[in-house]
Amino acid sequence: MKRTFTCIVCPNGCEIETEYEGTQVLSVTGNLCPKGKTYVTQELVDPRRTIATSVRVLNGTMPLTSVRLTNAVPKDRIFDVMDEINRQTLTAPVRIGDVVIADVLGLGSDVIVTKNIDKA
Ligand code: SF4
Repeated sequence: MKRTFTCIVCPNGCEIETEYEGTQVLSVTGNLCPKGKTYVTQELVDPRRTIATSVRVLNGTMPLTSVRLTNAVPKDRIFDVMDEINRQTLTAPVRIGDVVIADVLGLGSDVIVTKNIDKA
């Protein structure tokens, strides 16, 4: 089978033409570096995504802080992870690197703070 992927590993966004059988990649063209083939293989075998979003903060100088995942999670679990993140409320102060949820849903990824919020 043939399929075209847009590589999201870097801002170049290469359009990668792929020939594959099941989860076996037979050929790739259009990638400017080897990461493109790795990305396409991952997409065929076990597509994953990461999340950057925000969480409410009580008693802070700002009402929200930004958070992200430390590792990509299976694409089909993104909405479950978002539900878990949306249930969280932090209390200021919060610091970059604070763990909001450890090993979210047992998927091997932590949700961590990426913006400092001081106490009001
Ligand atoms: S194939 Fe390489 S250069 Fe092209 S978008 Fe992916 S990581 Fe970037």
